[in-house]
Amino acid sequence: MCARCGTSAGALTAGPPPTWTCSVENGDRRYFCETCSRENLRSIVGRLDSDWW
Ligand SMILES: [Zn+2]
Repeated sequence: MCARCGTSAGALTAGPPPTWTCSVENGDRRYFCETCSRENLRSIVGRLDSDWW
């Protein structure tokens, strides 16, 4: 499930689709859907926690 918008990756998949972005924040792995990843690409690259958005 996307950590930002809550979109489900799909119940049949064991993990997020390859288009999703995995971000490690405070030791926790968070996944962001393709849309959120694109919108927040700069924040992710800047290693900013999603709470900052
Ligand atoms: Zn999303």
